[in-house]
Amino acid sequence: MAAVSKNSRSTSATQRFYCPCGGEIKMKTLFENGKVKNLAECEKCKRTERRPRDFV
Ligand SMILES: [Zn+2]
Repeated sequence: MAAVSKNSRSTSATQRFYCPCGGEIKMKTLFENGKVKNLAECEKCKRTERRPRDFV
């Protein structure tokens, strides 16, 4: 039997971001004044930022 490599890294399209509080950040799509607006919201502390990267 060949050894199973544990180095298989698949590049996932969906990146996961986490808030400093430890909660997972989910993307939300809002409609405001007829425009589509994307918001990133932490599931735990309900903090919202424009981008998931802003949670650092
Ligand atoms: Zn949070």
